[in-house]
Amino acid sequence: MMLELLRQTVQEVNAAESLDQALTIIVKRVRVAMGTEVCSVYMRDQATGRWVFRATEGLNANLLNEASLAVDEGLVGLVAEREEPVNLENAEAHPSFQFLPGIGEESYSAFLGVPIIHQRDVLGVLVVQQTKRRRFDESEEAFLITLSAQLAGVIAHAEVTGAVPGDSDAGVAVPARISGVAGAPGVAIGTAVVVSPVADLYAVPKRKVEDRRAELRAFKQALEKVRVDIRSVSDNLKGELSAEDHALFDVYLGILDDSAIGGEVAALIKAGNWAQGALSKVMIEHIRHFERMEHSYLRERAVDVKDLGTRVLSYLQAEDHESRVFPERTVLISEELTASALGEIPRENLVGLISVRGSGNSHVAILARAMGVPTVMGAVDLPYTRLENLELIVDGYNGNVHLNPAPELRERFQELARQDLALSRDLESLRDEPSETTDGFRLPLWVNTGLMADVTRSLAQGAEGVGLYRTEVPFLLRERFPSEEEQRQIYRSQLESFAPRPVTMRTLDVGGDKALPYFPIEEDNPFLGWRGIRVTLDHPEIFLAQIRAMIKANEGLDNLRIMLPMISNTNELDEALRLIHRSHRELVQEGIKGNLPPVGVMVEVPAAVYQARALARRVDFLSVGSNDLTQYLLAVDRNNARVADLYHAYHPAVLQALAAVAAGARAEGKLVSICGELAGDPMAAILLMAMGYDVLSMNSTSLPRVKKAVRSFAHTEALSLLDEISSLEDSSAIQQRLQEVLVERGLTQFIHNPMD
Ligand code: PEP
Ligand code: MG
Repeated sequence: MMLELLRQTVQEVNAAESLDQALTIIVKRVRVAMGTEVCSVYMRDQATGRWVFRATEGLNANLLNEASLAVDEGLVGLVAEREEPVNLENAEAHPSFQFLPGIGEESYSAFLGVPIIHQRDVLGVLVVQQTKRRRFDESEEAFLITLSAQLAGVIAHAEVTGAVPGDSDAGVAVPARISGVAGAPGVAIGTAVVVSPVADLYAVPKRKVEDRRAELRAFKQALEKVRVDIRSVSDNLKGELSAEDHALFDVYLGILDDSAIGGEVAALIKAGNWAQGALSKVMIEHIRHFERMEHSYLRERAVDVKDLGTRVLSYLQAEDHESRVFPERTVLISEELTASALGEIPRENLVGLISVRGSGNSHVAILARAMGVPTVMGAVDLPYTRLENLELIVDGYNGNVHLNPAPELRERFQELARQDLALSRDLESLRDEPSETTDGFRLPLWVNTGLMADVTRSLAQGAEGVGLYRTEVPFLLRERFPSEEEQRQIYRSQLESFAPRPVTMRTLDVGGDKALPYFPIEEDNPFLGWRGIRVTLDHPEIFLAQIRAMIKANEGLDNLRIMLPMISNTNELDEALRLIHRSHRELVQEGIKGNLPPVGVMVEVPAAVYQARALARRVDFLSVGSNDLTQYLLAVDRNNARVADLYHAYHPAVLQALAAVAAGARAEGKLVSICGELAGDPMAAILLMAMGYDVLSMNSTSLPRVKKAVRSFAHTEALSLLDEISSLEDSSAIQQRLQEVLVERGLTQFIHNPMD
């Protein structure tokens, strides 16, 4: 009963157009549910901090938005300050009671107020009142707390939605900040373009037509336009994807052919149906057909069929549909950004990206980083469908989106963008300079790659090698496992592009948050589940094909290194090594020339930190995957926006683990590198150098900054800084100290504090 009530209320409130509407629904429902005489909500005013009487059932509604209490005033102020309920038999008798003239609460004695808290922030206070002198009982109090906790997120969302003027209201645009997860660094100020399907295949009315030819012509034209679109998407992505990845688009084109769906629609039109109706009927049948498939991969193809049908329908609906003109500075927004949505917009117009869903490690975020487009992921509170054409700020450093920014804030971000630009210009000059400290210590900087686009960018930034080639990326971009020969070609082009520089290829790392569309893994705890080496050791056929393809691709180049992800014990490593040695031996027998490539282990599980020496003894190098290592050490999901505040890259435990891995590898005389995002942080880079890391590998966008930092310090200074930092016991103290050092060095451009 209560659950049902909660569900209904949340649903209704969710659909509200504005905060006021949402609050009105809440007070109405709560009053009825609790059988009280009064229910009101007081909300904090962003500018003044006062508690404003915002919604009521039972008190004087004429004073809504007018009556208010100072931040520490009244029982409402008390509830907010204590962040807990206040339940009183006789409100007036309480020392904190503050009479608000005119709202008409004189006759009510009983008072129960609970705070509305979202992400530790008290947004407002929910109050119920009654004439009768009595304490609200425990279950009533518990009910109100539950309701308020459930509604806090919805209210926060409505507050943001309310900041965007809707169609119906004259709505004053209020500044709002929506936080998500940092996807790709940088800031952008631009105009929102929302990508969402306009046409609804399920809402097409049935209609008969006389002029069948005209309908047929319209349908053919719409088909042709969609074909052109798909081709241009595919062309736009040419620079970003390898040639093989285009195969997907050909499959799309095939579906439209006369011999397939196109033919069925034409037949219905010839039988007298109008084009839209015919299309909708055929597409819906096919979508249902796919949705009923046993195999989840085929089931998921229903989405593709629907997407195609929707595209054709939207052309039919707007016959003169011009190709979309993108604003000069476009910020692309979508509920779930996809690679193909990215391809629809010319690169020169694209300044920023926002995805409501997804995380910092979604495929799109990886792509965005490779392309250097500031990106915010996981902006769950963003009322994205209402943002078209609005100006907004994307803060890819802190993972924030700012709507209707106040002029001062806009100016601050503009300045930041100017500084970024000046900095990258300034850093360009470092391209051919060595990564070397002021006292002559060399620290090689390598890059992480995955997409074709990374290759050119990386070389342009002066990368000395590839420390992590994420082989799952080409796997993610296709419809099935690539064959050994397909893989050989992909790997060959990576190795060739960088030769003679070393290229470290990681064996397939799927599972966790990286799911292949054709190899779904469903688990309750995917990050603790079947991922990385665990998957490939269970499927030696996949592992062996990959190793063989790598070794073959290496023939005559000899710059390959192989790296194993998610190793958590020595058995896994021994088993993987056995398979690698066997593959190499067999290939040599088959006539392939080349040495056994160096093999390394990724240290990304805490167990591997403690076993660094045992692991290092068996291989040629260790490389720390600090993204995963941090999440496992701190028990913080790296993609969960809710706990992002706890993901401390500078946590003393993380730094100690990093130092221990370096020491372990060195004790065995083996090379040690790091390829997590931490390596791309200029100050962390200095600490890592001091710990003894031989190579830092990062996304190409970070490389020039890190080089600048390395060239600003003496190796001896780095050592004493590490020593000093080692005595600090919490991450914010460490971060603060590192920022001070940046300021002392005149490197303030590298500091990106969150801005409100
Ligand atoms: C890491 O975990 O730090 C890493 C480099 O691997 P990935 O981000 O691909 O999981
Ligand atoms: Mg990892």
